[in-house]
Amino acid sequence: MLSMRDRRTRDALSEQVRMLAFTHDTVIVRDATDTIIGWNDGATKLYGWRPEEAIGSKGTALLHGKNISSSAAEELQAAGQWSGEITRRRRDGQWIVLNVRWISRIDSSGKACGVIEFGADLTEQKQATAERKRSEQQYSAIFQAVGFAIYEVDCSVINILAHSASQLSRQTFQEFIGQLADKPYIRDANHAGAHLTGRPNPRDMAGTSISLLFSDPKSWIDILCSIANGILDYTVETTLTGLDGRKVDVVLRITRPTTDVEFRRVLVMALDVTERNEAQIKLRAAHAELAHADRITTLGQLAASIAHEVNQPLSAIMTFANSGQRWLTRTSPDIVEAISSFDQIAANSSRAAEVIKRVRALTRKETSYHTALNLGEIINEVTLLLRKESDGKQVEIKTHHNPTTSLVSGDRIQLQQVIMNIMMNAIQAMSAITDRARILEIHIKPAISPSTGALMSFEDTGPGFNNPNAGDIFHPFVTTKAQGMGMGLSICREIVCAHDGTINATNRTPYGAIVTITLPIPKKVGSR
Ligand code: ADP
Repeated sequence: MLSMRDRRTRDALSEQVRMLAFTHDTVIVRDATDTIIGWNDGATKLYGWRPEEAIGSKGTALLHGKNISSSAAEELQAAGQWSGEITRRRRDGQWIVLNVRWISRIDSSGKACGVIEFGADLTEQKQATAERKRSEQQYSAIFQAVGFAIYEVDCSVINILAHSASQLSRQTFQEFIGQLADKPYIRDANHAGAHLTGRPNPRDMAGTSISLLFSDPKSWIDILCSIANGILDYTVETTLTGLDGRKVDVVLRITRPTTDVEFRRVLVMALDVTERNEAQIKLRAAHAELAHADRITTLGQLAASIAHEVNQPLSAIMTFANSGQRWLTRTSPDIVEAISSFDQIAANSSRAAEVIKRVRALTRKETSYHTALNLGEIINEVTLLLRKESDGKQVEIKTHHNPTTSLVSGDRIQLQQVIMNIMMNAIQAMSAITDRARILEIHIKPAISPSTGALMSFEDTGPGFNNPNAGDIFHPFVTTKAQGMGMGLSICREIVCAHDGTINATNRTPYGAIVTITLPIPKKVGSR
């Protein structure tokens, strides 16, 4: 019985020794004189000493332990064990940090006779912690130092909704998001973020609902919907309202790291564009002033044409008034003919009034207003105003357009101005031509797609642009005319670009110039 029990005990012990030998941790056994008497595989791997080199050496001399707590020996003696961090040197001279546990060895008489040490290498863990700390410091430094506002926002409240987005209708999804919109809160903000919203200290922002910053709550709901739909980067222009009530125009960029699956660290970055927007408003006002001045100048040049346009119906009125009188003062008055003369008087006065109305519209200074327009109609109106000019210079104007397909949306007066400028230029350019017919051909082609829009082309038989780079004529103050200002085409380009259209100029072969304009069909169409 005894021998069987002894055998079982020995088997169990040798099993434990084998386990200790293969553990990744270090196991080192020292006797009472600090001589190493046990050294496992883990110790060989970590320190680089083989068991035959380590066993028999003094522990202190081989391992150069340092940074050991001063109370370690005392605790070991009193409690029979101690654990803590120590620093040791490996065979290759590299210093490593370990977490060790010392257990006193007790002999059969109950006396301490050395130490069993279990150790785990902390070097990598320490380095990883240091690296993490360093990158956190770096992140924090960048977070604070960038010139624009950053808010780190906890949007985890939308987590569940985000995962069930595909099962909800778009409207229900938006409604749910709308109900949660005030819940996401600012975890952290940088100095620029605090400053932008009128708070002295970024720390004051922690816990604030980010929705409070948005002047238009819908714009935050839209952002939140995009985040919940899995969009990682989102840019939008909106307005924030600071605590002090100050409104700030911003371009927002919202990003969510791919690792942030729970929407806890959504970054909202804001670039203050208030000054830029104010400058743009001033610039637009200056352009409008300039365009107005250009219109007045053009009208000045057209004074003769306009007078002619008004004069024609006036003469007709005079003629019909005389004949009306004659029909009535006859011995047997002809009422039917008289009424027909009155009709003609009314029609001609409408014609004269129409010309005056158009000219007055062109002299008005109004902010841009987009309506549904028929380009063909505008061309006919402008052709009428320019008739004296074109007749005087023997220019034939041919227009090709389909009334139903030349619909665009734009500002009537501005587009009239563009068309008038281009047609005037063509008429003036052709006036010097003597060896061929002077023809201005205008085509309007329907929009191929809403993005390409309607296309208008003006082709003349003049000398063409004498500038090798025809695009240069759109720059201000480029002119070949003695009386020219060189602003016309530059204003045309401003107007067309403001309509999201394009304008190009090129020479035709063998002679002449072509100016093409595309105008998209914008979504918003008002009525006037
Ligand atoms: P301006 O009419 O005051 O010169 P614009 O900007 O309207 O200013 O035109 C700039 C220049 O472009 C003109 O001076 C002329 O040289 C050239 N140009 C414009 N249209 C034509 C055309 N159809 N044919 C030839 N040259 C043209």
